[in-house]
Amino acid sequence: MKKKMIAGNWKMNLSRNAIPQFFTELKSHLEPSWPDISEKIDIVIAAPFTLLDSCVKAAHKSGVQIAAQNVHEMSNGAYTGEISAGMLKEAKVHMTLIAHSERRQYYGESDESALKKIQTCLTNGLQPIFCIGETIREREQNQTAQVIARQLQRVLDSLSDCSGIILAYEPVWAIGSGLAASAEQAQEVHQLIRSMLDKRYGRAAAEATRILYGGSMNPANSRELLLQPDIDGGLIGGASLKAKDFASVILSAC
Ligand code: PEP
Repeated sequence: MKKKMIAGNWKMNLSRNAIPQFFTELKSHLEPSWPDISEKIDIVIAAPFTLLDSCVKAAHKSGVQIAAQNVHEMSNGAYTGEISAGMLKEAKVHMTLIAHSERRQYYGESDESALKKIQTCLTNGLQPIFCIGETIREREQNQTAQVIARQLQRVLDSLSDCSGIILAYEPVWAIGSGLAASAEQAQEVHQLIRSMLDKRYGRAAAEATRILYGGSMNPANSRELLLQPDIDGGLIGGASLKAKDFASVILSAC
């Protein structure tokens, strides 16, 4: 069976001082399985840039993987305020979110920039967690499948294999709203994504690629979502900020 992944997205939250306590609490809530639980579930925390270093230290030997929330598409140069893949690797970070809906919404990130960032990640040995999802308006206009296909197809057309990427279906209307997609709604889109992967890369590669669900996943709804056949894990915002809730979601994936 495929190993599930539970990834927290801290967004622009928490502080350096809070990190040791967060990891101590996470450990205590996952006892007695800690740290062996990471053999069963991939646990990831996507932290703000300035906290990556502290998180990498705090996570040492725990099996928890630390990810960034963004990366620049170029490897260096006059890009004030940006961070390159090489800089992340130097900070011992090997994974990053790409094209989170907040990046698309507030910073104008497009399908095109997402593709460039994914290519940069793969060239530099960073694993991208590529986020896609429809807005409420698009869902209400029955455009969900079209939007997902548009966001994904460009990447599929450009990559000769999908083994380096993780996908995250995050309906924009479910993010931070407390209104998660139902298990059926999420499964329907995950199945569509899986079938697109299958069509492009074949059954085995499609089955091996992880597709996470994100959008108000929490300890109350995670088990049902994670039981769906095409949901291979979760990307969790709000509920990843409290170690107890994050641990409950992790345990629900076991
Ligand atoms: C996210 O930002 O990726 C997310 C899923 O947030 P939340 O869990 O708070 O909806």
